[in-house]
Amino acid sequence: MTDPRRRLPAVEALLAEPDVAALLAAHPRSLVLRAVRETIDVARANGGTAPPEGWGRAVLAKVRRLAAPSFGPVINAAGVVLHTNLGRAPLARPAIEAMARIAGAYSNLEYDLARGARGSRHGLCRGLLTELTGAEDALVVNNAASALLLALSGLARDGDAVVSRGELVEIGGAFRIPDIMARSGAKLVEVGTTNRTHPKDYEGAIGPATRLLLKVHRSNFRVTGFTSEVPARDIAAMARGAGIASLFDLGSGLLLDLSAWGLAGEPSVGEALASGVDAVVFSGDKLLGGPQAGILLGTKPAIDACRTDPLARAVRSDKFTLAALEATLALYRDPEIARREIPVLRMLTEDVTQIRRRAEALHKGVGKGSDVIEGESEVGGGSFPGKTLKTWLVQLTSDHLTSEVLAARLRATDPPVIVRIADDHVVLDPRTIFPDQIEQVARAVRAALDA
Ligand SMILES: *Cc1c(COP(=O)(O)O)cnc(C)c1O
Repeated sequence: MTDPRRRLPAVEALLAEPDVAALLAAHPRSLVLRAVRETIDVARANGGTAPPEGWGRAVLAKVRRLAAPSFGPVINAAGVVLHTNLGRAPLARPAIEAMARIAGAYSNLEYDLARGARGSRHGLCRGLLTELTGAEDALVVNNAASALLLALSGLARDGDAVVSRGELVEIGGAFRIPDIMARSGAKLVEVGTTNRTHPKDYEGAIGPATRLLLKVHRSNFRVTGFTSEVPARDIAAMARGAGIASLFDLGSGLLLDLSAWGLAGEPSVGEALASGVDAVVFSGDKLLGGPQAGILLGTKPAIDACRTDPLARAVRSDKFTLAALEATLALYRDPEIARREIPVLRMLTEDVTQIRRRAEALHKGVGKGSDVIEGESEVGGGSFPGKTLKTWLVQLTSDHLTSEVLAARLRATDPPVIVRIADDHVVLDPRTIFPDQIEQVARAVRAALDA
């Protein structure tokens, strides 16, 4: 028997088919060509069988899919407030407006308007950061991982950096503290054990080559039982005594006290600075609720060493980030405004009766096949590890669809709705569904359940 794959049309032949040739009138040739090639590839992978809907329709469907943007908004019904896979922090309105304002225009990104001469992007956000935190100096870079890389390079290059074995954490997405340290040019010196590290462990490791003591916040896990770690305050004092630098990787940039909302235990930026370390590093898009950024705060000499390090140019932040970060930070001048206007803070501190109201509205919109149940939301994003927040969920039940199929159908809607599966049921958490999305979600759920 002949190999059925031999019967696959050639690219040129398929392009000449009337249905496909007609597509060329309405779509760019490169797009149609790619669609034709990929349609043939799919047929080949299926053992050489022609698409059941016919070649013309298959190519048209492919063209439509390829023409649509591959990157777009989704609805987070999973109840993880800082969901790294879903882009972490949604921005506050003023931050979005600030990005839009500079996007289509020239800007004073690196231009000193007073002098009419070249300026520095590092000056942007610096004043606001020092005003809000009391730090002597500040620097914004691409993300916290690069801020850590830069700080290690600026403060400990070609020397030893001492860190506790209990703090050699992996953040996710292949980001491991020891790997970053190796690339920074600092030599990692591990002290203590996984569960316990004492001041004498650091003291014993300090030698002529030591340039830095590093403290890393265990942001995404908790150790319990027979444990002990050295607080940042003691690490800062030991470093000062030895005439070397100290650095605190804080992970999340918590600027407000959220303990009144049941969120305690995460060190704030203020506490980290008050410990007396030379520099603190944290993310812009975790608890701070701004754009992806890495923020360095600290003493003038420490931040200067980072700013003048050659790596600073490689990890600099872009103009959209700086615009969005400045607008986000400005909201923090009034903590109550920050809590209300910054979506991450609003979602984390929202009254549970409000969430219940949205759950009831969603339940009402979906009707049959849905129930309102008690449940828990997660902070996510390596913040407040192990901490959950009381919430009200809408639980779906179907007599003909598995939870996986139902979740997949919701992901296939426009915009996609991302849900959680718990106890073999699809659940939706209104904490992370914006109020103006409830109706849309209800419609998508009804369609998915009915189809
Ligand atoms: C999240 C995190 C980082 C990395 O932050 P990015 O902004 O994602 O680069 C570094 N250190 C700690 C402790 C973290 O929690």
